[in-house]
Parts: sequence; structure tokens; C-alpha cells
Amino acid sequence: MTVIGCLHDQVDGSIESVAACLLAKHRGKAIPVLHLLTRALSDFSSRDLELALGHLEMSGDVYIERAPRVQEDTVVGQGIRSTDIVFFDTFPTILRKSLLYKTGVEYGDFTINHVLGCAHGCRYPCYAMVLAKRYGRVKDYDDWKHPRIVGNALELLEREIPKYRRRIRSVHLSFTTDPFMYDAVNKRVFPWVKDLSLRIIARLNREDIRVTTLTKGLCPFELTHEVYSRDNEYGISLVSLDSWFHGKYEPFSAPPEKRVLALRRLHDAGLKTWVSIEPYPTPNIIEQDLEFLLEKIAFVDKMIFGRWNYNGLADSYQGVTEFYVMCSDMVVQFCREHGITCYIKKRTPQSSKTTRSIFSVQ
Ligand code: SF4
Repeated sequence: MTVIGCLHDQVDGSIESVAACLLAKHRGKAIPVLHLLTRALSDFSSRDLELALGHLEMSGDVYIERAPRVQEDTVVGQGIRSTDIVFFDTFPTILRKSLLYKTGVEYGDFTINHVLGCAHGCRYPCYAMVLAKRYGRVKDYDDWKHPRIVGNALELLEREIPKYRRRIRSVHLSFTTDPFMYDAVNKRVFPWVKDLSLRIIARLNREDIRVTTLTKGLCPFELTHEVYSRDNEYGISLVSLDSWFHGKYEPFSAPPEKRVLALRRLHDAGLKTWVSIEPYPTPNIIEQDLEFLLEKIAFVDKMIFGRWNYNGLADSYQGVTEFYVMCSDMVVQFCREHGITCYIKKRTPQSSKTTRSIFSVQ
């Protein structure tokens, strides 16, 4: 077996050596699988290529941008197709002109969205995707599901920290993407997204700027490292533990139980944690026991609860107002009993103006 562009003595016939040669030859480039196949077939089989790419993907040396698979949207496998694109030791990237900005989200202060798109592909639908489509930043749902990191995020941060430093109370990652985005194919957080998020958090913390995060992926245990401030607050979104709901509405995010476990590990390590229970579904979307969900997350320091606002489904439920009054009461009561700081969002019954600055209180 030989590999184009590699010295013969670098390839010993193993998949690892084919992988190493592919990486050495293509480092920093994005190459369509079709192109790799065409070039490689005279030297090794398509199966060897697939195994080598799978090996590189698992080790975090390549990112494989899988083409839209509309027919089997909720089925993700490790298979590689000729229409996929392999990013060798790199990740799809965009450049931006600015990064830090003051958010209009009611409980936020400053925020950073250092990734365009989100692989989780929530189908409530995702409001961030609706806006990104409206402003022409992404073409459609499939485009949205292919994340691109902001390649100049750290340089922008250096420029913008001095400009905003005195006005910032905290910085939130993120309201229109996910800082610990889950890679449903390889069942882990995308290493490139995580790495950039961690570097941003560390940089802000070095300036004594507190960070809050929110994810439907997995909070990484690296956050327990001493470079990250103990004043940071790490959150997950969680509206259901049901696997049917997960497959239908949050199909490529981390399984809910895994999200809770990862958050629990941070709590057990002494870090501050919180949960956003929004958009909470009405019984015509799914019948479930809110008390059961609350019990699972009783360890957190803060909770935010909000109704389902994204489409007319909740409003078509007879008794929608009474339902959300009951849920809000339950959340408020549960938080009181467990010493959890609670915030009920605007437009949800029982919304409390007095707790609007939930993240300015530590
Ligand atoms: S996790 Fe958040 S940003 Fe990502 S698709 Fe879902 S709702 Fe949108």
C-alpha cells in the first residue's frame, strides 16, 4: 500500500499510518471526500480511507462536515459519504467585525456568540436560526446545523475588552449558539468549539469578568481548572427528560440525562450551576411530570422557567394559562424549598420583576 504524497517508509500498512499520512499531506485544508477518493483509489481502498478518516475524527484531528441528509435527519451515523467535506486539523471558520455586545435578553448583560449556527438543530424551532435566516447569515436549516467558529474571536476580544470593561457585569456564552456544542456523530462536544469557548472564558476571567454559560451539549470538566473563575455560573437547557421529545425537538443535542450528569459533576466540584427550563412544553406537545424533572436538578443554584413561545402549539392547548400558572407555582415553590434562586421569564404567568437581575446576584 502506498499513499499519495507520503513517503513509502511512513506507511506500514496500518490504518494509523494511512491516517498520519493523510493528515500530514492535507493539514489546514478542507477537502471533499470525493476528491480524496478519486486521488486515493489507486493506492488504497475506499474502506481504508473511511477507516483512516474515522480514526482521525475520533482523535479530533479532522472535522467531517456531513452533507445534509434530509431523509434521515434524526439518524446520525459515523458513515462517511463522497459528498462530505474533511477539514484536516481545522474547522469551518468565519470572520467577524465585532464580538462583545449588550444583549436584549431580559436576564443577560453582555454576550458573545463566537460560533455561527448550531449542530443541535432544535425544532421548536430555534429562534436564533429564524433570525439568522432572516438576516441572510444562513441559507436554511441544514446550513444552520453546520457550525462555523469565529476565527478572529480572540483578537476581537483583546480589542473590545478595554472598550467595554467598565460597563460589563457579566458575559454570557451564548444566546444564539452553543458554547459546548454536542457532536452527535461522535457523542462528545466538538473539540474546536469547546477549545475556543474555554479560551474566551479564561481570557475574560483574567480580567475579572464573570462568565455565565448555557448549553444543550455537555459542560466540560476542564471548567474545574483553576484558570476559570469560581464565580462563573454554568447552565444547561432542560425542558424534558423524554427520549421521544429529545428526538423530535432537540434531535442532535446531548441526551438530557447526560447533560444533567455533566452539570452535576461541576456542582460536585464546587462550581455554581443553573438550569434554564425553557421553552417548557404544554401537555398537547408532551405529557410529563414537572416535579420529576425538578427533582433531577435539585442540586443547582439557580433556575429560570419560561413558557413555549416559538409556535402556536402551546396556545392551541385548552387551559394554557392555567397550565403555566400551575407550572410556575410549582417551580417557585420547589426553589423556595430547596434554596434555589428562581426567575420566571416575561410572558410566563407569575413572572417576577424583582428577580430580573438573576445573574447580578451571586
Ligand atoms: S441549542 Fe440553542 S442555539 Fe442550538 S439549535 Fe437549539 S435552540 Fe438553537
